[in-house]
Amino acid sequence: MFDNPSFDNHEGVHFFSDEKSGLRAIIAIHSTTLGPSSGGTRMWDYANSADMVTDALRLSQGMSYKNAMASIPHGGGKAVIWGNSKTDKSEALFRAFGRAVESLQGKYWTAEDVGIDTADIEIAAQETGYAAGLTTGKAASGDPSPITALGVFKGIKQTALRAFGTDDLNGKTVAVQGVGSVGGYTCEHLAEAGANLVITDIDQEALDDISKRTGAKIVAPDDIYDVDADIFSPNALGAILNADTLKRLKVKVVAGGANNQLKTPDMGEKVREAGILYAPDYVINGGGIINVAAEISGSYSRDWVDQKLDTLIGTLGTVLDDAIASGKPTNEVADEIARARIQAAKV
Ligand code: NAD
Repeated sequence: MFDNPSFDNHEGVHFFSDEKSGLRAIIAIHSTTLGPSSGGTRMWDYANSADMVTDALRLSQGMSYKNAMASIPHGGGKAVIWGNSKTDKSEALFRAFGRAVESLQGKYWTAEDVGIDTADIEIAAQETGYAAGLTTGKAASGDPSPITALGVFKGIKQTALRAFGTDDLNGKTVAVQGVGSVGGYTCEHLAEAGANLVITDIDQEALDDISKRTGAKIVAPDDIYDVDADIFSPNALGAILNADTLKRLKVKVVAGGANNQLKTPDMGEKVREAGILYAPDYVINGGGIINVAAEISGSYSRDWVDQKLDTLIGTLGTVLDDAIASGKPTNEVADEIARARIQAAKV
């Protein structure tokens, strides 16, 4: 564990197993410097436990950075459950997981992530008071994706302002990859702002629905990188900024809600060299965690969420300006600011 290249002085990495339900889970707490750690739970059929540990280490560190940039009083943590989210779920499993979360006594708050839906978290919440992203309850915040999408839309405008000298999206062409929850809502905002949309997805029904509502043109999944567009907004997969796609992209801006857009961190510099302004994913997509933080605070307030979202978009602007002024890639500048914020709270 301590020799793992992804180990970054994590405060705690907790392993849980429950023989009865078959639960095998890791809860990694990267930092509680800014407050109790928070981050969703991922359910994934890992090839081996080493991959699972690495994922937990990386994702929890990422949450420390995301929460620091979102100016919420939370550190970073993440839970991973080893299993197939289509076939291995049971009430006993999520109850056992809830007890695992509870045993950390509030050092870690959980919510949904890949492979986990509201129903799963609601089962866990029967065993722990440290679960959020619920649909019922005093401060329930429900689906975070509309807020994530609002942040993505505002972030696209911030990035456009620096790349084109105006944040007016009227007449700009935006290529959108993925029109699920975040991508779908983002398309609605973009269409309202007068942007021309070119969209792709592997879900034909979602494509038809968004196209009907926004007038978007549909292209095949692999063709999205070649679209003659001003802006590329990835809202589906990770690792879509890589050597292959960079050769094909014609855009000046990449700004979207998908997590882990850079295949490797050094792609940030390659993207910069290609003359593309990239809005770091964990900054532009922080709206969802802000919404969850409002629930964790115990009394959900939409005004508080909107204020935090505007602060976040201001921080994105600072990242972009610093990167442009210093000639550094935007992802490095974001990491530096996040680390400095966490460090400053330590002294
Ligand atoms: P979602 O499942 O609702 O939507 C994802 C969409 O991507 C689906 O419509 C799916 O069919 C499509 N897709 C899958 N493979 C594709 C491919 N090869 N090409 C094109 N489209 C493909 O998920 P979501 O909640 O909208 O999340 C989208 C991204 O945003 C993810 O990376 C997620 O981690 C990230 N994110 C989401 C939130 C949130 O609030 N939901 C917050 C932060 C980050």
